Amino acid sequence: MFAVGLTGGIGSGKTTVADLFAARGVPIVDTDFIAHRITGPNGAAMPPIAKEFGAEFVTADGALDRAKMRALVFSDDTAKARLEAITHPLIRAETERERNAAKGPYLIVVVPLLVESGTWKSRVDRVLTVDCSVDTQIERVMRRNAFPREQVLAIIDKQATRDARLAAADDLIVNECAALDELAAQVERLHRRYLALAGTPSA
Ligand code: ADP
Repeated sequence: MFAVGLTGGIGSGKTTVADLFAARGVPIVDTDFIAHRITGPNGAAMPPIAKEFGAEFVTADGALDRAKMRALVFSDDTAKARLEAITHPLIRAETERERNAAKGPYLIVVVPLLVESGTWKSRVDRVLTVDCSVDTQIERVMRRNAFPREQVLAIIDKQATRDARLAAADDLIVNECAALDELAAQVERLHRRYLALAGTPSA
């Protein structure tokens, strides 16, 4: 099925945009959601994570101790690579399974790290980037997550640059201070384009 990879920096509005596509009946496969599920209680990634990192990284209910793992991988790139060697193949396999089960003329695959993690671009037919300024990202994430400014900056610093995401884009949604109806209008325009590209006459 025709697949659009939806990406954007933290706080750019990926979830908000994905919701607007979902409201038009487009199936959404969210790799962040999958990553969360496979590291939740009894998730497929938990036995290999326990084996690789030790039982202290597993909570009482069998999920990943996210705070502990975040603290480890934030400053240790080798640990990050070891974790990703476990999670990435599982995320890819589960994404494929959900893609195959999805029904519709096309689907959206939400991949926050599409630009950072190399192979995704070749796994989708088109890349849609949600763009906004770094200042807006900071403001939104501080508000949404109640994170201090420094923490948001540190996350943004680890992600691809705005320019790199723009360079990877086939299509763009500008979500700077867009009111929801303006955002919806951009989504509607792209929805029609994707229906046409997927070979479905738009009603
Ligand atoms: P992402 O999934 O890219 O991290 P979200 O869609 O969760 O981003 O958006 C980040 C935060 O900003 C959310 O709280 C969301 O409600 C808010 N937000 C997103 N777009 C807008 C907008 N156009 N106007 C106001 N708030 C917005």
